[in-house]
Amino acid sequence: MIIPVPPLKALDHILPRPPILLMGAGPTPPTPEVERASATVFSHLGATMQEIIKQLQSMAQYVFQTRSPYIFGIAGPASAAMEMSMTSLVWPGRKVLVLNLGTFSARFAEIARGLGGEVTELIPAALDCFHVDQVKAELEKKSYDVLTIVHGETSCGIMNTECEQICKLAKSYGLMVAVDAVVTVSCLPIPMDEWQIDFMFTGGQKGLSAIPGVSLIALSPAAFEFVSKRTEAMPHWCLDVRRAWKFWGKGEYHYTAPVTGVLALYESLRLICEETLEKRFERHTQSTKLLQHGLHQLGLTLYAPESCHLPSVIAVRTPEGLDAKKLIAFMIEQHRVEMSGAFGLPIFRIGQMGEQAREHNVRRTLQALEQSLNHFKA
Ligand SMILES: *Cc1c(COP(=O)(O)O)cnc(C)c1O
Repeated sequence: MIIPVPPLKALDHILPRPPILLMGAGPTPPTPEVERASATVFSHLGATMQEIIKQLQSMAQYVFQTRSPYIFGIAGPASAAMEMSMTSLVWPGRKVLVLNLGTFSARFAEIARGLGGEVTELIPAALDCFHVDQVKAELEKKSYDVLTIVHGETSCGIMNTECEQICKLAKSYGLMVAVDAVVTVSCLPIPMDEWQIDFMFTGGQKGLSAIPGVSLIALSPAAFEFVSKRTEAMPHWCLDVRRAWKFWGKGEYHYTAPVTGVLALYESLRLICEETLEKRFERHTQSTKLLQHGLHQLGLTLYAPESCHLPSVIAVRTPEGLDAKKLIAFMIEQHRVEMSGAFGLPIFRIGQMGEQAREHNVRRTLQALEQSLNHFKA
């Protein structure tokens, strides 16, 4: 028996035309520079790749604000970077304190449990971020090895505004600290060294405005030394920091690096360096302000309290009687602008990461949203 060729369709008949403006919680629109770079394939080993890796690492040092040389790209989503941090730190019996604000915070707990860690999840008392006092009380009560925190919890649009103090507190108790900076690094300040972070990572498709499927992680020198000295078996082969250092530190073969993804990261980092962090933060501040002002004028309110809302992914309360799924679908269909839904909460979400944080994109989104809301009112 021969399995027949299936009915074929050209991609042009499947991909959305005209294209859709990606204003959700990721992926974000890549720049033309990133699009061009990610169409090139060449050898993953050799002098050209070596030069690219060295340059990429020094640009990432600036973007992460770290002097640590231990910077790795990963062929995988931001969740793979999260998994690399956990697989480095957690094995049976290790005690992990997870600050759980929502879906992505909870992912740390799922991964750590899978590795045999003893996981304790803290949950905020109300719709709020974590405060140093609550974390301190827990660290006084019980001894821990690892603390995980998500700087910007995308699922509910809440930012841990005391992330710096919490990381420093955990260090003062001798813990290793892993921070999810997926929607914050390069959008708002999160200086890795100053905040004493051991593992910090982001994905290509969020704040960096590169592409999905590649991510970046930095380890403090102390974290790298910790992993280097570890004697327990490493359950992940691809995500083993020591094996990955063969490529990222020495230019030798580990697995075939995602060449196009590395180039996309390279270009996104280069553009950030060119813009400078100061100007980029200011652009994000102005853009998210414009968006929030517009949302307010449309009579909409944010889900998170003012004191801790995340500026890079805005969670908007779905107005009473409106079906957010229908609103999102209508806006895509009629206006070619995409927002994100939610994992169970009565919200929809608008991104302000990287290329999303441009005045023309915000104005187009607000206009599309206004017309879509009017459609459902009528
Ligand atoms: C999107 C996101 C992730 C997961 O990214 P993937 O690339 O889908 O694995 C993790 N953390 C935060 C805060 C996110 O927004």
